[in-house]
Amino acid sequence: MKLKTPYIFNIQKFSVHDGPGIRTTIFFKGCPIRCLWCHNPESQKYTQEVMLNKDGVEEVVGQQYTIDKIVKKVQSDQIFYDQSGGGVTFSGGEVMTHSSEYIVELARRIKRLGISIMVDTCGVAPQENYEKILPYVDGFLYDLKFIDSQLHERYTLRDNVQVKENLKFISDKGGKIYLRLILLKGINDQLETIEETVSWLKENKLIVSEINLLPYHDFGKDKYDRLGRECTQNFEKPDDAQLHIVEEYLEKEGYNVKIGG
Ligand code: SF4
Repeated sequence: MKLKTPYIFNIQKFSVHDGPGIRTTIFFKGCPIRCLWCHNPESQKYTQEVMLNKDGVEEVVGQQYTIDKIVKKVQSDQIFYDQSGGGVTFSGGEVMTHSSEYIVELARRIKRLGISIMVDTCGVAPQENYEKILPYVDGFLYDLKFIDSQLHERYTLRDNVQVKENLKFISDKGGKIYLRLILLKGINDQLETIEETVSWLKENKLIVSEINLLPYHDFGKDKYDRLGRECTQNFEKPDDAQLHIVEEYLEKEGYNVKIGG
């Protein structure tokens, strides 16, 4: 069977922010949306591109790997996953928009080794891909960037209809969900917005194992320059006091909450 091989822009070992324990995170290139705060702009295009490194030297971003090669690479750290309750995380970009033959087969091969798999997703991808990968995935790090569809479209250039449908689908199928709320000061960190999110979760009987509050940061800003693109980001991190108000409210509503990934 011929597999359409995606580009990968990083394979990060010893990652501790992409799900439980110590993990290897595989960053797939290509994303169907454009979050205005994106800190990995080199992940957005599906093709290879040239980016300057920190020393000003041109580097090609994006490499193709055979499934065998990735399996070998992630397997070499199995002892760390076992000791820490970690594993492998598929991230991006948006991994779920890639060929299901590739990503599902990769998940199946890694899972067969007894290694846990998490999928980090923005929810904008074909539902059939979630359905196919579900049997091999231990949890989804699922972004719900804005509960309001118009705001979602204003800040990511795409509405949230598919995001909500896929989230409900995964929950109904029994998938484990770590819901990620990306918080931008004064835009979506107000309590009313969070209350609206909770109402929607409850109305739709969504089962969420944990809510991760992810405050905006600007760590990736310099990458736009290095890619020769204009950076139009003008966001602020929510105040700590506001984060704690949101955290307390969500805990009172019965959710396990963590600030950070
Ligand atoms: S979903 Fe992630 S990779 Fe895609 S544009 Fe948004 S922040 Fe960037």
